[in-house]
Amino acid sequence: MNHDTDIAAARAGAILTVDLDAIATNYARLQAELRGVPCAAVVKADAYGLGVELVARRLALAGCRDFFVAHLEEGIELRGLLPAARIYILNGLYTACAADHTAHDLIPVLNDRGQIDDWAVHCRATAPQPAAIHFDTGMTRLGLTPAETDALVDDPAPLDAFSDVLLMSHLACADEPGHELNELQRVRFDAIRDRLPGHRSCFANSAGLFLGPAYHGDLGRPGIALYGGNPVPGRANPMRPVVRLEGRILQLRQIDAPRTVGYGATHETAPPARIATVAVGYADGYLRSIGNRGHAYVGEVRVPVVGRVSMDLITLDVTDVPEALCRPGRWVELLGDRCTIDDLALDGGTIGYEILTALGARHHRVYKATTNLGEAD
Ligand SMILES: *Cc1c(COP(=O)(O)O)cnc(C)c1O
Repeated sequence: MNHDTDIAAARAGAILTVDLDAIATNYARLQAELRGVPCAAVVKADAYGLGVELVARRLALAGCRDFFVAHLEEGIELRGLLPAARIYILNGLYTACAADHTAHDLIPVLNDRGQIDDWAVHCRATAPQPAAIHFDTGMTRLGLTPAETDALVDDPAPLDAFSDVLLMSHLACADEPGHELNELQRVRFDAIRDRLPGHRSCFANSAGLFLGPAYHGDLGRPGIALYGGNPVPGRANPMRPVVRLEGRILQLRQIDAPRTVGYGATHETAPPARIATVAVGYADGYLRSIGNRGHAYVGEVRVPVVGRVSMDLITLDVTDVPEALCRPGRWVELLGDRCTIDDLALDGGTIGYEILTALGARHHRVYKATTNLGEAD
C-alpha cells in the first residue's frame, strides 16, 4: 500500500478505493442468478454512498438499463449521466411534480391511489407515459394498501392512461430465507399479478434474488449485493468486495506503564504494548459503536480497535505488529477483502448498508476501473 507517489493520496488521512470492475462482476453474478430475467440496479443515496456518477456509468457499461433511485432529485441527476436509461423514482410522485417526471423522463413508482390518479390525469393531458405501481404485500411502508389494491384489481381502468406498467412489491424478510413472510408476500403478489395480466413485475431485492425463480418476476432490483454486501447471510458471500478503506497512522505510542486509551478511559493497556493512532473517525463513517469492538489489518496482522472512536481518530493495539509496519505514515486497512462491510457492521451492531452509506465525503477517493467510463450508455 504505497500511496506516496499520488499527491492527493499523500495528503490524505484516509483513502477509500471503490472497485468499479468488482461492481460489474457482481452485476454479472446477479444476472446469472436471474437466469435470463433482466436485472436493474438500485443506485439511491449516491449509489449507497459510493458515488453514483461512476457507479451508474459502470453499470450501464455492464449492460444495465433499469435504475432505481429514491428521490426525484436523484433521478434528475442520474438522467444527466445516463440519457437512455429507464429510471424509476421509488419515493413516489410528489404533488405538482408530474411535469418534472415528463421533462426528465423519470418513471414514478406510484405508491397510493391518489398518485395513480394524478399520474393518469397528467398522462391523459400530455401523452401516455410509463408507471410502476407499488403494492404493499407485507412491508407496511410504501405502496398500495390491501384495500387500494382490491379496488384497483377490480377496476384497473386507470392503468389504461399509462404507456407501460411495471407491477412492483418489496420483501420485508428476504435476508431470512426461512421467514414465513417471504412466501406470504409472494402468494399475495402472485394473486395481484394474476388479476392484472399483461404487465411485467419486479419483486426481489438482493437477498430476494437468492430465494429462487418464484421471486424473480420480470426484473431484478438489487442494491447492496452490487456493492459487495452478502445477500445470503450465514452463507459464503457470493459477491466480490467493492470497497477498501485505508487510514494513515499518525502516531505510535509505546506503553511502558499502565495507561488508559481515549475518551472515557474505556480501555486499559498493560505494558509492554503499542498503540497506533489512525486518521479515521466517526465523521468519516467509522461508526462510534465500533469502538472497543472492531478490527483492522496492519500488513497481515489483524489488530483490535481499542478505546472509543473519536470524530477524526481511532486507536489500534498494534503490540503484535512488527514496528516497521506501524510507523507514522503507514497505512492500515479498515475495510477490504479481510474486513468486509458485513464484518464491520457486525462489530458496530448495524448492517452493511449503514456502513456504506455512512462513509461520507472526507476520504480521498480512488476509483478502480479498467474501462473508460467517459462515454457510457
Ligand atoms: C433499497 C431498495 C432495494 C434494494 O435493496 P437491497 O437490499 O439493497 O438489494 C430494492 N427495492 C426497494 C423498494 C428499496 O427501497
